[in-house]
Amino acid sequence: MTARHHEILIVGGGAAGITVAAQLRQQHEVHLDVAIIDPSDVHYYQAAFTLVGGGAYKLEDTRRSEGELIPDGVTWIKDAVTAFSPDTNSVSLADGTTVTYKYLVVCPGLQVNWAGIKGLKEYVGRYGVCSNYSPNTVEYTFEMLKSLKPGMKAVFTQAPMPIKCPGAPQKAVYLAADYLAKSGIRTHVDVRFLTATPAIFGVPFYAKELVKVAARHNIPVSYNHNLVDIDGRKRKATFAITAGEQQGQTVTLDYDMLHVTPPQSAPDFVKASPLANTAGFVDVHANSLQHTKYKNVFSLGDAAGTANSKTAAAVRKQAPVVVRNILHLINGGALEDAYDGYGACPLTTGYGKVLMAEFIYGGKPTPTLPLDPRKERLVNWWIKTDFLPRLYWDYMLKGKVSFPEHNTAYVEPAA
Ligand SMILES: Cc1cc2nc3c(=O)[nH]c(=O)nc-3n(C[C@H](O)[C@H](O)[C@H](O)COP(=O)(O)OP(=O)(O)OC[C@H]3O[C@@H](n4cnc5c(N)ncnc54)[C@H](O)[C@@H]3O)c2cc1C
Repeated sequence: MTARHHEILIVGGGAAGITVAAQLRQQHEVHLDVAIIDPSDVHYYQAAFTLVGGGAYKLEDTRRSEGELIPDGVTWIKDAVTAFSPDTNSVSLADGTTVTYKYLVVCPGLQVNWAGIKGLKEYVGRYGVCSNYSPNTVEYTFEMLKSLKPGMKAVFTQAPMPIKCPGAPQKAVYLAADYLAKSGIRTHVDVRFLTATPAIFGVPFYAKELVKVAARHNIPVSYNHNLVDIDGRKRKATFAITAGEQQGQTVTLDYDMLHVTPPQSAPDFVKASPLANTAGFVDVHANSLQHTKYKNVFSLGDAAGTANSKTAAAVRKQAPVVVRNILHLINGGALEDAYDGYGACPLTTGYGKVLMAEFIYGGKPTPTLPLDPRKERLVNWWIKTDFLPRLYWDYMLKGKVSFPEHNTAYVEPAA
């Protein structure tokens, strides 16, 4: 068995891995030997998938070749990690080789469990079952939306947490309702949203507004309804009711279009490793992102066991903290507890309208712009569809670190 060694080894070359590698390469005072392990040929800007599903963005514009994004001077090991051995500072790869490291950054994202709902794997992409959660099925969402006719039923679901971008499932339903309104058939199509969560959004400050948005669109919302079974041929979706008076019962709905948010979890190889917490995610400190036991291990992005919203926006604020803290370990400085839990969810509440939900640990709102963050705005639509993709490709993934600061001193207005 062969063995390779890199000073800094990054597992996962998605939003987090590329950003950390690019920022490490900006350090000119020290020469760092950095490698990224990722088996994928392509890299997606997943944050625009909701727009693709709503027909407002092209799938091809979300896709770039992974090779082009690996920063110059960084080694790309094109393979999948299968196991971590932090006691010997090594990881195992699918090809049977081992890579050792001095510092490890773990960011392989979330695992999408298509087999977690009966019938989903079999039917997704056909028989009206669509999902914005995969590049293979996201265009089918818009196809289904366009096929809706008066008298039809569209059902949108949200899986239990954790999921990528917890606001994304409801963004899909608002765009659908607006699309139907613009087509003149909204009142003739039954559109509903069923979520496994007990509230429409995890941050009450924004949830209050989103309940009003759903009501304005005439979308009935059912809470604590977890999709468990899809019969694609009969076009029936069954939900388990997980709380309230009907807890333990199931309800089956007919649909013509079913937009599914698949269940998600920490990747199995992370879950099974000594790095995992009880929920399966990498057990790191909330603010320094350093592993609680293995001091030369860091994690960020969706695989990190932190309580922030799992978003690329969070990665943007986490990456500089991870990079600075690795440099502190190398240079002998004290670690910074600098990540405050920032996450952002630009909620597309209709075409040309976005409510920009930004917040930190504890659900405290922290807007970047000096505007009332509860309001849906056209400027936020421009930020979502134009500014943020450029920020991602041209600044974040290039390792540039100066971004607008969110306002941690923001005070919630009286009701
Ligand atoms: C529908 C949808 C809507 C979203 N909307 C938004 C939004 O509006 N705003 C926002 O900020 N975020 C949004 N997100 C979330 C955002 O895309 C993620 O939070 C972000 O990509 C997380 O970055 P990451 O690097 O942790 O994971 P990813 O970007 O998913 O990258 C993980 C990488 O790890 C690699 N990998 C996996 N397994 C292995 C392995 N065994 N070995 C090596 N490498 C491996 C993968 O190939 C991949 O390249 C959305 C996501 C989806 C799906």
